[in-house]
Order: sequence, then C-alpha cells, then structure tokens
Amino acid sequence: MFLTREVILHIDMDAFFTSCEELKNKNLKNKIFVVATRTKHSVVASANYKARALGIKAGMPLFKAKEKLSNLLIIESDLNFYQNMSSQIFTFIKKRYSQKIEVTSIDECYLNVTNNYSTFGTVTNLINNIQKNIWIKFKLTCSIGASFSKFFAKIAANINKPNNFFIINENNYKFKLDNFSINIIPGIGQVAYSKLFALNIKTIKEFKDYLLHNYHNVNNVFNSKIIALGFLNELLGRSNLNINLNKIQKSISIEKTFVNSLGNLNIIYFQFQILVKKLFLEVKSKGFIFSTLKIKLKDTNFCNYLFQIKLKNNNNKFNYVFSKLQLLVKTKWNKKPLRLIGVCFANLQFSFNLYLQKRIFDDNSWKSNLKTIINKKYQTKIIL
Ligand SMILES: [Mg+2]
Repeated sequence: MFLTREVILHIDMDAFFTSCEELKNKNLKNKIFVVATRTKHSVVASANYKARALGIKAGMPLFKAKEKLSNLLIIESDLNFYQNMSSQIFTFIKKRYSQKIEVTSIDECYLNVTNNYSTFGTVTNLINNIQKNIWIKFKLTCSIGASFSKFFAKIAANINKPNNFFIINENNYKFKLDNFSINIIPGIGQVAYSKLFALNIKTIKEFKDYLLHNYHNVNNVFNSKIIALGFLNELLGRSNLNINLNKIQKSISIEKTFVNSLGNLNIIYFQFQILVKKLFLEVKSKGFIFSTLKIKLKDTNFCNYLFQIKLKNNNNKFNYVFSKLQLLVKTKWNKKPLRLIGVCFANLQFSFNLYLQKRIFDDNSWKSNLKTIINKKYQTKIIL
C-alpha cells in the first residue's frame, strides 16, 4: 500500500478550543457553547459540535451566532491554556511516534512516519494507536489523515471528522477524491472557490480536468500558473512537499552555457528571463519563498563573477525579482561577452502556506461574494 513513498500523517485536534474548555469544566459537555474573546467586534474563535450543528462556526461574528441561538453560552478564550495543552500534545506525539514533526498551527501537525509505521503493523494500526493514546493521556480526540504527501494527508484528515481517520494511498488517490467538493482542497480560498464555482467547477474531478485542459488560461482564477501547477501536481500525486519535513533546502539554482557568447544586453535579459521563469516554477511548486537573488556570469576568458542582492520584505513577485536581476546585470556586467549565465534563489524558507494556507469558510461572506460574481456574470439572481 505504501511501498515506494513517504507516509505522512496530518493530525488535527477536534474542536480544539472548546474541547480544552470542556476539560476545565465538565459541565460544558452537554451545553451549546462557543469560545470567543469579548471585544467590540467579537467573532467566534471555536464552536463546539453542538453549536456547529446549529450552523455556528469559527470566524462568525458573535452577534450572528446569537441570532442562531439567543442564549448561546460564550466562554472567554484562554489562549495560554490552549497553548500549554498544544505543546504537551505535540511533545508527546514527537517523543512517542516520530521526531519528524512539523507543527503548523496550535492544533495541527504533520508527522513523517515512513520509517516507523511498520512497527505498528499497518498505518491503520498506527493511527488507532495515536488516537487511543491521545485520548488516554489528554482526554481529547483528533482526526487523522494519512497519505504519501502532505497535501493529501491534510485533505484526508478533513474527510472523516471528528475522531476518525482516512487514508489516501497509491491505490485510491486517482479516483477516490473525484466526487468530493473542491472546498476540501487546502489552499482553495473563498475567492478561488467562487471563481471556480462560477465556471461550474465543483468537484475535484472537474477541477483536475479544468487544470489539465486550461492550464494556459488559468490566470483568471489563480494569480499565476505556478499556483495552478502546484495544485495540479499535488492532485496528480506528484508532490514535492514530502521529501523531508525537517531539512530545508537552502538554495536553488539554474544556469545555461552558450555556444555563441552573449554580448547584447537585451539578449542577456531575455535569456535570464527564461531561467528565472523556470526557477520560479520550481521554487513555488516546492512551496518555498526566497529572500536573496544571486546571479553568475562567466565571460569568454572563463572568469566567473557572482553577484547577489537581498530582496525587500521577501518580495517574490516575478516583476520585482526580475527588475532586481536586470539592475545587477546592468551595474555589474563588465561588457565582456558571456558564455554562461546562472541564477540562484537563496535563503529559501519553506512556506507551506504559499498554496496550502488554512482554508476557512469562516462565515457566510463567501456566499455573498459568490452571489455577486455569479449574478454579474449571468445577469441573474441566485439564492444560496
Ligand atoms: Mg482542529
């Protein structure tokens, strides 16, 4: 089942804040309540499952939640307590199950168990063991997704909530998700969801087909083709994000040698542009951001020159990066014809959030955005 790839778990604590409150006060167990901070424009930080059943969700303004239940119980949030529980839980998981842990939020982590799941027999046994022991030790439940990539592991954890698990493996990833809504895809936010909905793309199968057939024309949905390519790669099971959870590549580079040396500035820019675009594609598909740009020039005397520049505020926009590169070339190039050029993006940082940012359908505002888009496009009125 998991023969050739990594085995990644995504562990997501169920209704974490409200579950923590139930630990402090057993009487809350049977009540409908939310955790919130009382400020002028309070929003629900977390709703327990009884409140969720009434349509009350995290991110919803408190006054709206009260419209659903006027005597809704509101518990003041106790972030210190949640943080303390969180670090205890993740320390336990790390000690007991795998050192390769990446904690991505107060109640979620990825765990690479490639090398040790077999000591439990199967992935399912390991998952059962984790859930059982977290319950015994903390009296809290969690949902677990398992797969060969982080992307699928996170999706899997969302499928059978709460207190359950789901496995996406080599045998089922191609078709198992096809009929699921695209809103389970991490990184599909409200805006992209609305745009895709307007294109009549609702299921993962439709989304995959759309990306495969409209790859050159996705800019009206995503800001860049690179993001679309990231989704496509992930959905086709070609993830780059699972190689190593703890070790981060520090730089990524590309270079090209020319038989006919380059002496014209515009041609040099043109060739650099091709390299930078390729590098962008690679760096983004791996979920990296970079803060330093380096270039390499080798002239016809085989002299190498290396120059570098720091990018402001980790600005990774193509136009900005390329303008910095042009500046470097213009000011540093000694006008001797070049037989090799190279680009390097350095000080890479792993930014899982790049396209896997937490997708929260906080409140119903996405519906009104969606309505506006659809009504505008089709000159009609829809009711959601
Ligand atoms: Mg959670």
